[in-house]
Formats: sequence, C-alpha cells, structure tokens
Amino acid sequence: MLTNTDIIILGGGCAGLSLAMRLASLGESSPSVVVIESRTNYTNDRTWCFWGTGTGQLSHLVRHRWAAVSIATEERRVTLDCSSTPYQMIPAETFYTAAVEAIGAAPNIELVMGESLTSEPWKDGKLWQTRTTAGQRSAKMIIDTRPSRRPERDEAILWQSFSGQEIECDAACFNPDAVTLMEFSPVKNGRITFLYVLAITPTRALVEATVFAPDPLSPQDLAAELNAGIDKLTNGVNFSIIRSEHGILPMGLAAPISSLDATYVRAGLTAGGARPASGYAFQRIQLWADDCAKALADGKPPLSHARDSWHIRAMDWLFLRVLRARPEIAPDLFLALFSSKNPNTVIRFMSDCAKLTDCAAIILALPPWPFLREIPSGLATRFFAALGGRSR
Ligand SMILES: Cc1cc2nc3c(=O)[nH]c(=O)nc-3n(C[C@H](O)[C@H](O)[C@H](O)COP(=O)(O)OP(=O)(O)OC[C@H]3O[C@@H](n4cnc5c(N)ncnc54)[C@H](O)[C@@H]3O)c2cc1C
Repeated sequence: MLTNTDIIILGGGCAGLSLAMRLASLGESSPSVVVIESRTNYTNDRTWCFWGTGTGQLSHLVRHRWAAVSIATEERRVTLDCSSTPYQMIPAETFYTAAVEAIGAAPNIELVMGESLTSEPWKDGKLWQTRTTAGQRSAKMIIDTRPSRRPERDEAILWQSFSGQEIECDAACFNPDAVTLMEFSPVKNGRITFLYVLAITPTRALVEATVFAPDPLSPQDLAAELNAGIDKLTNGVNFSIIRSEHGILPMGLAAPISSLDATYVRAGLTAGGARPASGYAFQRIQLWADDCAKALADGKPPLSHARDSWHIRAMDWLFLRVLRARPEIAPDLFLALFSSKNPNTVIRFMSDCAKLTDCAAIILALPPWPFLREIPSGLATRFFAALGGRSR
C-alpha cells in the first residue's frame, strides 16, 4: 500500500479514472498517484454519449456511432444529419476496463477499490492527510472528484433526471440509423419530459425516460413514463431487459467554490464538469483530464475545470431560466434549435466548441420574447452576477 504519494485522487469514476489514465501514459515519469474508490467493483452502470467533434477523445473506446439525431413532439419531427460529427457511445464497462488495465500497467499509479474517505482531508505542514476506511494516507496534492453537491431543489436551476432500460426485442422495433435525442410528451406539472432512444440494432435499444425539472427525481418517479415509452416503441413485441441505468445531472449549478490552496482541486460532474445547458460531462471531463495531466507532468499544480466564456455562461443561464419559468414552450425551443440550417452550429454549441457566429445563429434561431421577458422580471441582477461567476 502506498501511504505517501505525490497525488491522491479521491473517487475513481469518470473524472478520477480519466486523469489516472492520462498519467499512466507517462510511464516512469508519472508522479506517484493513488486513486481511492469506494466501489468494490465496476459495473456497466452508464452509457456515455457525445458528438465526435474532432477532439479525438478516447475514440478507440467508441462502440457505436450514429449519423443522425432527431427531436420530436406529437406534431413534428426534426432530423439532423450529423454524419460529419457523429453522435457516439462509450459503454461504461468499456471505459472502466480500459482504465483499470492502463492503471494496472503503470508503475507509479495504484487504484484502491472498496476504500472510502471517512473525513475531510486536512493539511499538516506541506502534506495533505486523508483518513479512509483502510487507514491514513498522505500526499502533496489532492484531486477530489467526489460529488460535492447533493441533488436538491434550488441547488441547480434544473435537474435532469433519467431512468432507462436496455432491451432486446423478439422482432425489429428500432431504427438504428438515428438516435431519438428527445421525443417530448406534453408538459405536465412543470416537468419537461421526453424519451431518449439509443437504437443499437433493429432489435436492441437503450430507452430512457428523462425529465428536466426543479426537483430531482428517482427511478420510481420515472417508472410510469419509462414503461409507457417502452410499450409505445415495442407495440406488443416481446422483449427482455438487459440492464438498467439511472442518473440525476445538474443543469446550472452555482459556480464551484475554488480552493485557496493550489494543491487541492475539485473536479467532475458537480465541480464544473457538467455543461449547464445539457448536463453532459463526459467530453468536458476528458478535456480537463488532458490539461490537468499535462500541468502535472510539467511539475505544475493540478487544474480544476476551465470556466466557460462569459457569453456561453450567460446563454446557458438564460436558456435554463426560460425552461424553468416556461416549461410548456420547451419542446418548441428545442425544435427551433435543432431546425437550424447548419447542423454543426447546434452540435458545436452543445459540445463546448461554439464560435461566436454559432452563438449568434443560436440566438437568431430562438424566439426572442421568452428570453427578453426573463431578464427584466427581477433577474437582471442575477444575470450579471452569473456573468461574474454565480450561476443562480
Ligand atoms: C447513468 C448516467 C448516464 C450518463 N450519460 C452521460 C452521457 O451520455 N454523456 C455525458 O456527457 N454525460 C453523461 N453522464 C454524466 C457524467 O458524464 C457522469 O455522471 C460521469 O460519471 C461524471 O463523472 P465524475 O467522475 O464526476 O463522477 P462519477 O463517475 O460518479 O465518479 C465519482 C466517484 O467518486 C466515488 N466516491 C464518492 N464518494 C467517495 C468517498 N467518500 N470515497 C471514495 N470514493 C468516493 C464514487 O464511487 C464514484 O466512483 C451520465 C451520468 C449517469 C449517472
């Protein structure tokens, strides 16, 4: 057991393992690292999707690509050709296996599983001390990827809750050429509800019931929507459930609290890893892992997630405020966004690589009144506060 290392990474999930993999690729020249993960084993607990916008993030782990995505309401469907930036999927089990293998082969990196932090780290002289279920460990630096916020009403502008099942049908029920990104149900009780369908073959798909709402929701809260969605898609065809997944992602968290000590940083979903407007985090975490590993390899302190530019922060904040205040118009707003003449505009916007012209095109694609109305209704102060760093 390494008890005194250069770096302790708290949490071996997506962020912790992504960084450890980058450091593993440095071989002998990597700093010494221990990753502390409370789970005893990894399961295929999530499915990461993102647009392949050319950054090449872990592209060797991609197991499926789609050249089109669609957005639909009961009245209208918009299909977007994304063949130049396909929508792509990495199953969690593929990622975890690759990470465990890379770390296992690295001389200076240890992944300890089934070990949990039992109190907050403290600094003693130049070293950080941690108390875990297995004893005490110390390190010069800590990268903390544990969730730092609880999913509770008003902790984020909206919560994206979803519950899904991967199913195998006895007959063809799905179109594997296109992902159904959002198939909206009528908005009820202020909840924006839609189905997300990742069709892997004509008989196999991951179907998820998703809700954007001020309150986070459990799988039980989403069960009726999920069952109704699966019934509609399978239309009486027999199917078996292969696996289930559930998630609650923040959309518009307050800006992460930055540490006063450069040797302790937070990273991951609740520390700037999630894009406010979408809740997606996988690609941002990969970019952060690249940058952070490079800084550490250069002998610099670790990095936290880079802040979005002021105009992206402002656009995301305003978009989420409108969705929260006027959920009934959400399906039309998303249809308008995805009806844009140039599909790459919205894809770049969702994938954190929007140019100023993309932002202008997005603004022009959306109806102005709901957004203008949201600013004067006592929110201007918060809007400018968001530009300065607080998102709510
Ligand atoms: C089901 C699901 C599907 C998703 N799909 C997508 C998607 O398609 N695209 C996308 O971009 N994003 C997606 N996300 C969002 C995001 O990419 C993931 O949540 C991602 O796993 C976040 O990485 P993370 O490292 O911040 O958190 P995690 O991966 O959850 O890692 C945190 C780790 O910390 C460990 N931990 C917690 N407390 C302790 C402790 N006290 N001691 C030791 N270890 C501890 C946990 O066990 C966990 O392994 C999805 C999320 C979920 C849940």
